[in-house]
Amino acid sequence: MTQPPSTHPDPTRRLGNYLVCAVCARPGTGHGWAPPPTWGSQPPIAWLCDDPACVQIAKDTYSMRQEQFARVDSLASGQGGEAAGAYLDEIGKSDMAELAEEEWFEFCRRMIAGYRVALTTSLANESPF
Ligand SMILES: [Zn+2]
Repeated sequence: MTQPPSTHPDPTRRLGNYLVCAVCARPGTGHGWAPPPTWGSQPPIAWLCDDPACVQIAKDTYSMRQEQFARVDSLASGQGGEAAGAYLDEIGKSDMAELAEEEWFEFCRRMIAGYRVALTTSLANESPF
């Protein structure tokens, strides 16, 4: 038996996830963008945060193929890891078990921030427009 089409966005998809900005991966705020309907069919909405740069990048990269986005996302993950590693170098620790609670949270913040900056920058740079 076939499932009826869902009226809710698929949270696993880049463009259909209203909880996460499709550009920078910060929490979505209800803003979104999609190209005009073609032949009566409305393309999925790219859900976004409220950063105007994300709106522009979403417009410029909307048609990016999933494989290309996966490559950009993977590279951004690595850059997030590098940012977190730089923090460990900064505090002179390499054993994660030795991190104090506040150091652990800062490590995580640096990784996530590094990922978000790299993702946004890479998407802007890979935009075909
Ligand atoms: Zn965003």
